[in-house]
Amino acid sequence: MISNALTVDVEDYFHVAAFSNEISPENWGQFESRVEKNTHAILELFGRNNVTATFFILGWVAEKIPSLVKEIAQQGHEIACHGFSHQLIYKQEKSVFAEETKKAKYLLEDLSGKSVMGYRAASYSITKKSLWALDVLTDLGFVYDSSIVPVHHDLYGIPGTPRFPYVLKAPNDKHIIEFPPTTLSLAGVNIPIAGGGYFRLYPFWFSNAALKWINYYDKKPFNFYFHPWEIDEDQPRMDGKWFSKFRHYNNISKCYLRLEKLLKSHKFTTVSDVLNNEDLLANNQINATHSLIEV
Ligand SMILES: [Zn+2]
Repeated sequence: MISNALTVDVEDYFHVAAFSNEISPENWGQFESRVEKNTHAILELFGRNNVTATFFILGWVAEKIPSLVKEIAQQGHEIACHGFSHQLIYKQEKSVFAEETKKAKYLLEDLSGKSVMGYRAASYSITKKSLWALDVLTDLGFVYDSSIVPVHHDLYGIPGTPRFPYVLKAPNDKHIIEFPPTTLSLAGVNIPIAGGGYFRLYPFWFSNAALKWINYYDKKPFNFYFHPWEIDEDQPRMDGKWFSKFRHYNNISKCYLRLEKLLKSHKFTTVSDVLNNEDLLANNQINATHSLIEV
């Protein structure tokens, strides 16, 4: 049975890009923080189902609630980095991105006592416009990234990139493993199926069947993600465009039970375990299969 990557992007409901026009980072401190309570519920769910996962933690959250990072690490999960300020990378200056990503990585390493290998960008914002981010990540010693989605989307994606874990060459010629959130290939079109709003949008049977397809027919591990706010029915309601609100709140009341069913239907572990099983961790210095500059 193939082990799949179970990942959580640890951030609060007011960090999401969909509401960034209404809320600026200077005001984040005014909102009621719910990420600790929601992450505890997730840790309890994972513990009850005996699974370990990778937690991509936002530096801002780690700084505010350092005990949460320690708890996650102490329970045997992998600590990875979700950047610091949850800004879209293609709207940032390289120097600002480099500085705050370094700060987040070092903070997470201090708190967990382990080296942080993995990175995931806010809203998957490594696109053709921001490939320089890969230079920053390789220079900081990240071993893998999970930010490049092979789809057409209004906020993210690089169509034509591989769907399964691969080693890619950054513009600076250093190598990094990329493990994209999983898509289903249907008639040549890649459909996101591996979590977040899509997991809430589709009926459970569809997500479950699509993920089984990846293991049985593609014979590959999938990479599933969600956020602590996605199981929180009682979070304060934010204002914004109707589509942003739909994406954020759709089927939140069903998410926790669906997650539990998902955990019982597939085998899950951390990203680094999956990459190890795929023999990518040992070989990433020699087998660069892909250069995004050519895509
Ligand atoms: Zn995020």
